[in-house]
Amino acid sequence: MELGIVLDYSLMRRVIVAGNWKMHKTLPEAVDFVRRLAPRLGEGQADVWLASSYTALAVAAQAAIGSPILVGAQNISDQPDGAFTGEVSLSQLEDVGARFALIGHSERRHVFGESDALIASKMRHALTGSLTPLLCIGETLQDRQDNRTEAVLEQQLSTALESVDVSRCVVAYEPVWAIGTGHSATPEQAQETHAFCRTLLGADVSILYGGSVKPDNAAALMSQPDIDGVLVGGASLDLESFLSIIQESHQP
Ligand code: PEP
Repeated sequence: MELGIVLDYSLMRRVIVAGNWKMHKTLPEAVDFVRRLAPRLGEGQADVWLASSYTALAVAAQAAIGSPILVGAQNISDQPDGAFTGEVSLSQLEDVGARFALIGHSERRHVFGESDALIASKMRHALTGSLTPLLCIGETLQDRQDNRTEAVLEQQLSTALESVDVSRCVVAYEPVWAIGTGHSATPEQAQETHAFCRTLLGADVSILYGGSVKPDNAAALMSQPDIDGVLVGGASLDLESFLSIIQESHQP
């Protein structure tokens, strides 16, 4: 598929507002969303990414051509091809115009049991192609209560990023206890954790915050010095609420 604007995320710390549609949106709904969002995006705001389900990816990516919106996948196989029923490969994603893939989303880790080792394998494999991996990390409530947040994040990052060119990756810190619960981390809590991740990742990697981001808390989160945008689940399903979040963002 012909691609629109090509952004190289290497060595660039960009502000990104990424929507994760999870298992929502039919083909017409996805196309309609992209078509209505594109003309309302302004200069100087965040790059806008949409993680579609596999079924709507091709049509959403097609609808986004010529717009600043990048469409990507919510998952990716760690295998190039073969007998892996139900999986979708890197070359298949590239074929339909995907520009990035979420890897290690909390629901993949905790609902589908993906291990750090599998996530690391997906990271290495994704980077053999043209996609930008959006690596998701985050601690559980129990981890936080046990004062293990930094140890957990360090383990997730060091495993996933071993033998990987970190400058080609984007990372999302998403505390598991904040995803889909309506209880976002406070801007101060998120900043503290992002600053810790920054010490491991370096100055040039974009680190997004995710977990119950809504129009009314997005600005405070994105104003923190180490928060380079947000990964938005529930509030990305509705065009007006997603747009309100984008409108709170600006590139540095
Ligand atoms: C997510 O799915 O990555 C997410 C952060 O969801 P929500 O915004 O609904 O908490």
